[in-house]
Amino acid sequence: MIERRRSTATTVGHVRIGGGAPIVVQSMTNTDTADIEGTVEQVRALARAGSEIVRVTVNTDEAAAAVPHIRERLDRAGVDVPLVGDFHFNGHKLLTAHPACAEALGKLRINPGNVGRGSKRDPQFAEMIDIACKYRKPVRIGVNWGSLDPELLTRMMDENNASPAPRTAQEVMRAAVVESCLQNAARARELGLPGEAIVLSAKVSGVQDLIAIYRELAARCTYPLHVGLTEAGMGSKGIVASTAGIGVLLQSGIGDTIRVSLTPEPGGDRTQEVIVAQEILQTMGLRSFVPMVIACPGCGRTTSTYFQQLAQDIQSHIRHRMPSWRKEFVGVEAMNVAVMGCVVNGPGESKHANIGISLPGTGERPVAPVYEDGEKTVTLKGEHIAEEFQQLVEAYVARRYPRRAPA
Ligand code: SF4
Repeated sequence: MIERRRSTATTVGHVRIGGGAPIVVQSMTNTDTADIEGTVEQVRALARAGSEIVRVTVNTDEAAAAVPHIRERLDRAGVDVPLVGDFHFNGHKLLTAHPACAEALGKLRINPGNVGRGSKRDPQFAEMIDIACKYRKPVRIGVNWGSLDPELLTRMMDENNASPAPRTAQEVMRAAVVESCLQNAARARELGLPGEAIVLSAKVSGVQDLIAIYRELAARCTYPLHVGLTEAGMGSKGIVASTAGIGVLLQSGIGDTIRVSLTPEPGGDRTQEVIVAQEILQTMGLRSFVPMVIACPGCGRTTSTYFQQLAQDIQSHIRHRMPSWRKEFVGVEAMNVAVMGCVVNGPGESKHANIGISLPGTGERPVAPVYEDGEKTVTLKGEHIAEEFQQLVEAYVARRYPRRAPA
């Protein structure tokens, strides 16, 4: 059992972050926010995949003007996922010129390193905080090491150089990220933003930096923490780096909301980042979203790709069926399904799952015993094992999980 760090609770739209609430999955669109139709479509896809909060870039007048229309269309479509506006440099101007944008957003993300340079920085930050107070919106103070406040970093580097025991440049950078978060949160509170309206994040792209910075933040404040690597990268590298960093922090009880910042392959599906975030939480036993398919890796005992195909088909079938299962059956998201390649570990693993199948390995009798709740119930054979197993999974769900009472 992981003991979670105690944090204050913040509400973003209808979603609660921190204060012991379940860890929230977030994502971000990569459409031009001024493209209302394209952004609505992508927000809907992200929400359908399970994103509980979606961030959109608000960088131009056109984007700010589009936000209330996006909100309205989502509401009409019954998609109540809160939207977060991501502001840099001109956020104060956009929010002043487009009050309906501020109204439509569930939260404002402010990067204190990109609020403004020199003498403009403080008044522009204050203007953003005033707007958040006026519209009663929570704020994520989202520091990013790629845009760390240069004045703060320079000052801390100079102080370090003058110190009798100077730290490494990397240590100073980490300390500067933490200071930027805490100082800007304190400044926002002096300006009138309630502590319960503040979430912090400190995005870096190195796993060890991420862990060190969040441990320090977690020890020094009680604000809810949004955790994730920035620029995690593409494909397996992005997934592995995010899982390593986020996983270590979650295991220490740190993290109230997460995002996996994957770079999609060209033409790739943006919703992958949501699926990875859910899988991190589910494989760590922190939340359940969708039934898990446990499949063996295969080996020389499975010379055909038949069982890989079956594992993939079952996984797709479950993801496809989950939206309606979730509406119909209570607790189905915690189901485990095993698809195993041969008799070595197949029956054992299948018995531990809610429902499992042990396929015949090379040279074994062409039969596939199925186990439900630890008991062998039927043996499938012939050409249609895959279809028959899917039907058995459907029947298992209908029998095992109570139906929801009609709303
Ligand atoms: S269950 Fe059988 S096929 Fe799968 S990895 Fe183990 S020995 Fe190989």
